[in-house]
Formats: sequence, C-alpha cells, structure tokens
Amino acid sequence: MLTLAKIQQFPKAELHCHLDGSIRPQTLQKIARLDHLPIDEDQQVVAQKMTASSNCHNLMDYLTCFDYVLPYLQTAQALKIAAFDVLEQAAADGIQYLELRFAPSLSQQQGLSVTEVIQAVAAGVAKAEAQYPIIGNLLICGMRQDELAHIQAVFQETLDQGHQKIVGLDLAGPERPDFPLTLKESVTPFLGHQGVQLTLHAGECGCVRNILQAIQLGATRIGHGIALKDDPAAQQEIGQLPVCLECCPTSNLQTKAIASYEEFPYRAYLTHGVKFCLNTDNRTVSNTTLTKEYAHLLEHHAMTTAEFRQLNQNAIDFAFTTPEVKAQLSQKMAQFSL
Ligand SMILES: [Zn+2]
Repeated sequence: MLTLAKIQQFPKAELHCHLDGSIRPQTLQKIARLDHLPIDEDQQVVAQKMTASSNCHNLMDYLTCFDYVLPYLQTAQALKIAAFDVLEQAAADGIQYLELRFAPSLSQQQGLSVTEVIQAVAAGVAKAEAQYPIIGNLLICGMRQDELAHIQAVFQETLDQGHQKIVGLDLAGPERPDFPLTLKESVTPFLGHQGVQLTLHAGECGCVRNILQAIQLGATRIGHGIALKDDPAAQQEIGQLPVCLECCPTSNLQTKAIASYEEFPYRAYLTHGVKFCLNTDNRTVSNTTLTKEYAHLLEHHAMTTAEFRQLNQNAIDFAFTTPEVKAQLSQKMAQFSL
C-alpha cells in the first residue's frame, strides 16, 4: 500500500531540478553572511521572495523569483554551499540519484569562468555524496534569453573542460519565437561530444511542435513537454519513441500551463505509452519535494503502486549515467517493499 511515508523512504531518482530555484532560504542567508551581502534577517521574508506566489500569471512571472537569488550565487563558495544544500534536501527526501542543472552564465557577474562555476557546483555535490547515500550528476543549461554566441561559448567551455560529473546539456528559459532556429544552432555543434546527452526544455508553455523538434535534434528527454496534454495524436507518436518527459506538475500549475492537478494528463500519458518521470523543477520556488509531487498524483489520479515503481524506473532508464549505476538503483528499488 502506497503511503506518504513509503513514498518518502522509497529510493527515488530525479532528473529535473534547478540549482538556483531549490536553495533553502536559511542557506541563502548563510551564503549572504559569508559573502558579506545584504539580506533580510527574517527567514520568512526571504522564503516569500524565493517562492512563486499563488497569483503568478505565467512562466515569465514564475521566473522573476530567480532574479532575487542570483546575486547570491556569484562566488565559488556560494555555489558549493548551494549545491550541497540541494543534494542534502534531496537525500532527506529519499532520492538516491539526482541530476542537478544550472546555467553557468548566470553566475558570472563577478568574473567566475564557466569552468570555475562548474567546479564549485561539483565540489558541493562531492561533499554531499561523501555524507549521504546519493549520487549527483550535472546538467549544464544554456539560457535562451542569452545571445546565441554566448550559449555556444558556455557549451564549448563545458565540453572542453570535460568534468566527469557533466552528463548533459539543456536549454532553459522562455521559449522564444525563433525556438527551432535557436535550438538547432545552440546544440547541434555539441551533439555526440564525449557522450554528453541532451535534455531540452520544450513545450513548457509553447507548442507541441517544439517538443517534436527537440526530439528530432537528438533530445532523449524533454523538460516538461506539458503542451502535449491536449494532443492525443502527438502523445501516441511520442509514446512510440525512446523519449522520456521530465514532468513537473506543481511548476506547471504555477506557470498556468495546467489549471489543476487533475488537468495533468496522467492517465492519457499512460494510455498512449508516453514515458515520463516526476520531478520538482524548483524545490523552493515551487515549495515542493519529490514526495509531494508523487502525493499529488496519488491524491488526484489514484496512482497505483505499480505505476509509482514504473515512474521511478523510467527516471533510471533515461538517466544520463552508467549501466552500473542504473543496475544498482534498479536493484535498490526492487528490494524495497511497498
Ligand atoms: Zn525546468
């Protein structure tokens, strides 16, 4: 029987979690103190500024929460503390494998290089791995609002550096009107490089075509893809492909991509064979945990134990990690009785 306690204890995997949207308010205060930056002393006030309000209108609105956090993520020390903090929260939520994503270009206001940003985040991940039963890998985001040349430079430096924790590239931020073009020119030069794989935010607020184009470009995972909800034919088509949707229902609710948890196309995806997994997107901005995301499916879609196992298995199957790690995670899941 699936209970909240069981969901929480179950050895879970999560593929879609943004560093800057998932830092605890008290950790942001700690970073501010260490870096001698002003911040409100009241933790509640900080929390309020970091969390999307209920009258958030759309994705652009939702993204403003990140503007508050970014000035605090400009030093190596801050990035290391932040990364450790997110993995520590994930470990407490029963997650044993997490892919953490971040955009190096957003942490370069004080002169850090892309390499320095990556090394700092990786150091925080390594610290958490030494302390908790969790494995963390990194995804590097290019920001769609940046100049194309800048996105390409970030990806190039990322690949040149070749840090073993970097397993994939992503494009995040608002889907621009020239989506297909930017998509192609941003990622094509880097495909097939050192086994780095592609997961792309697509169809978060845009159209189904963006999702299909991302898949054509070689993405094996799609961030959100919620635009599929009204298109059974496209669900059927994607259901035939080796592609996994990284779904984030609470985030979709806040950006108004769905109007309620009931509107999340849970049964439709299962019916059409769409492979998907559950994710938080942003723990703090969306005020959520992976356990809470599953709890919503349990409450609003009567998720069964077998479906819960399958969603976690999907995350493992599509994770950008080694067959050994996948086998290890699958075994832990199988051994856990529900
Ligand atoms: Zn995202």
